[in-house]
Amino acid sequence: MKSHYRVVVIGGGVVGCSVLYHLAKLGWKDVCLLERSVLTAGSSWHAAGGVHALNADPNIAALQAYTIDLLAEIQEESGHDIGLHMTGGLTMAGTPDRWEWLQAAYRVYQSIGIEDCELVTPEEAQRRCPIMSTDGLLGGMWADREGYIDTTGTVHAYAICARNRGAEYYEHTKVEELIQTADGWKVVTDKGTITCEHVVNAAGLWAKQVGRMAGIELPVSPLKHHYLISDTIPDLVDLDFEMPMTVDLEGFTYLRQDQKGVLLGIYEIDHEHWAMDGAPWDYGMELFQEQTDRIENELICGFNRYPVLQDVGVKTWVNGAFTFSPDGNPLVGPVPGKRGYWCACAVMAGFLQGGGVGKSLAEWIIEGEPEADVFGMDVARYGRWAEN
Ligand SMILES: Cc1cc2nc3c(=O)[nH]c(=O)nc-3n(C[C@H](O)[C@H](O)[C@H](O)COP(=O)(O)OP(=O)(O)OC[C@H]3O[C@@H](n4cnc5c(N)ncnc54)[C@H](O)[C@@H]3O)c2cc1C
Repeated sequence: MKSHYRVVVIGGGVVGCSVLYHLAKLGWKDVCLLERSVLTAGSSWHAAGGVHALNADPNIAALQAYTIDLLAEIQEESGHDIGLHMTGGLTMAGTPDRWEWLQAAYRVYQSIGIEDCELVTPEEAQRRCPIMSTDGLLGGMWADREGYIDTTGTVHAYAICARNRGAEYYEHTKVEELIQTADGWKVVTDKGTITCEHVVNAAGLWAKQVGRMAGIELPVSPLKHHYLISDTIPDLVDLDFEMPMTVDLEGFTYLRQDQKGVLLGIYEIDHEHWAMDGAPWDYGMELFQEQTDRIENELICGFNRYPVLQDVGVKTWVNGAFTFSPDGNPLVGPVPGKRGYWCACAVMAGFLQGGGVGKSLAEWIIEGEPEADVFGMDVARYGRWAEN
């Protein structure tokens, strides 16, 4: 590790590794990432790995499309398998309002150049996802550019590409203090002090504390999130294609195939915050006990939407933590009043949005502004009134 870099990125999750990769890709080689544990050690290791095109903000939808296209590119460039399964995806609507919204979203996608989508009837959707009941469904949207990846493989692929392009990363190096200087920042770590012009807070579950190291109160908090992986489903054993990523908007679930079973994730209505001041420093690669009572209603919807789940067991429960800002969008960009301090945090869907976040932030640091319209995720949209 050198004693000076142009940029120090704090955090080796999918977002930090994407920022590092994009800085190097745009020509800044004198850049380094510090990770307190091992790459992926925050939220990234246990994510469901789903990627899909839909977002209510068309600008963020465009960045998601960029991220999805980038996945095959980093797999190829790194030579590291990321377990890319581009199954396509379905988003289903079950009320007139939701169906109207989905049709409007489809038109918006057409207008911003995301053309690999089509509206489908419930019956057409069921042909593509044969274990889905069509009860109560009015219609859906199919998108080619959806699927899932292996999360650990993806983080490593970003890191390998960054390193091959001249960037550096160091594991087991914890940032303990940040001191602003006349020319930038002193980054005090448990392995020594580094000076740099720019620091990037990509600390995920610890973003709150890494903000406080610079006297900043970021509006970000971890939340718990569940998914389950089922035992083998007999109907899938002889299926000669892989089922698509399927989101049931009324049921608050997402589903994808996992070998010959499925992964069912819950968009939790009765959500639970955890560690409002950021994860404890000794929090390892841990999960929480599942809380099925809290997500009972969504589970009932899911087991009715996919009735085969009623006949098989649950192989694995995952109840992990990830971070949210108040509006659910990331906190990206320069922090007003803190020269050289940049945020790439509160990314609640890092595998889906991390590529776009990394690209935009790297452009912002190097060129002074991002190419895309990132107003929806600009950290400056919140004032002090939005602190926890
Ligand atoms: C159950 C579950 C399922 C999910 N499914 C999906 C999905 O299907 N698709 C999707 O896109 N997203 C999904 N997510 C969300 C996804 O996991 C996160 O959006 C993503 O991992 C965030 O990445 P990150 O790099 O911002 O943060 P993290 O992965 O938390 O990484 C931050 C890193 O910073 C390091 N760090 C922190 N402080 C310091 C310090 N002081 N010094 C050095 N290093 C430090 C940490 O050790 C950590 O490795 C899911 C999340 C959960 C909980």
